[in-house]
Amino acid sequence: MTKEQVIEALSGLAGGTLRTASACDGFVSATLVCAPDDATRQRVRAEADAAIRKRAHELGADLRQVSIETTSETPSRPHAAAQSPAGNPAPRAGLPGVRHVIAVGAGKGGVGKSTVSVNLAVGLARGGHSVGLLDGDIYGPSVPTLMGLDALEVLMHRNMLQPFYVHGVKTMTIGKLVDSEKPLIWRGPMAHGAFKQLADQTEWGELDYLIIDLPPGTGDVPLTMAQLFSLTGAVVVCTPQKVAQDDAVRAARMFQTLNIPVLGVVENMSYFIGDDGKEYDLFGKGGAEKMAARMGLPFLGAIPIQTELRVNSDAGTPTKNFEGSSALSSALTKFTQRVEQEAAIAAMRNRQGPTLSIS
Ligand code: ADP
Repeated sequence: MTKEQVIEALSGLAGGTLRTASACDGFVSATLVCAPDDATRQRVRAEADAAIRKRAHELGADLRQVSIETTSETPSRPHAAAQSPAGNPAPRAGLPGVRHVIAVGAGKGGVGKSTVSVNLAVGLARGGHSVGLLDGDIYGPSVPTLMGLDALEVLMHRNMLQPFYVHGVKTMTIGKLVDSEKPLIWRGPMAHGAFKQLADQTEWGELDYLIIDLPPGTGDVPLTMAQLFSLTGAVVVCTPQKVAQDDAVRAARMFQTLNIPVLGVVENMSYFIGDDGKEYDLFGKGGAEKMAARMGLPFLGAIPIQTELRVNSDAGTPTKNFEGSSALSSALTKFTQRVEQEAAIAAMRNRQGPTLSIS
């Protein structure tokens, strides 16, 4: 379905006025303005959902997910945590309506941090969660390519950036706001401002998870992020080699210094599966797992190095990584589920607050 067809399907709706609509790869989303009472919101959502499905059926179009939101256009966004499932924490400081903020970091560039962020976001969305992805790598944003945003335009409404709704994920990146070939040079305060604006001035709405893809290393952005939000936790991406482990240890220590719980370590490019179906150990499989064990951190899983993943990343089609019963799809699904578990545990711990031990 195209965006225009979604707009057309929703144009005759009683009780709600269309504010934003987007459609990509069978993922359709729309926001409608309506009266704030629960009964009206529920009715408008149900009517919009039915209208889109009816139109898709008439067009013979494939629908993967329909996400309808309502707003009464009051400036304050509703808090959702009170009725959140699975013991989620109170709404995060700085981002009301977002239940879990999870940062993805790495000690160095090129280990697959952005790839892991994107696939974590898509995996969580495929699991039925409402998910946002914030490309916090303001120096080298990769999300426009990895999520296939090239043909899409940035939309503003009431001075708020409207996230792109692609592959089931609300996505925002500085890469769509600046010239893609210009070097992005930010001094400390500018980096702070750029990240803050991107996070604060995007209309995220209610989310179960906001995944933040951090720049590599231990610079200004993680500091700003820690000041702005109380995070559920951070995922550290590492490849098996010793040099990558050393940097990942530094990244994990940085999160701990910033009082951000480390949810665990994921080993990317862990092993290679050849055309003969055999597993080959290229970089020293298990190195990141050992490093996690040394630091007393959970190990979140191993992702193989696979051409398919690189091809889907370059093409901006991450959902394809989860299709079929490949080793890749099963590794990514397992990793996503482990992050969900660790986030739930960290949220419970965060809620309990500090403990006093007397010896
Ligand atoms: P980083 O964010 O750490 O700099 P990226 O996520 O941009 O790294 O990944 C760097 C390159 O490696 C990209 O071309 C990406 O497609 C590729 N890549 C990452 N992980 C894998 C993997 N497991 N298998 C194959 N290619 C990968």
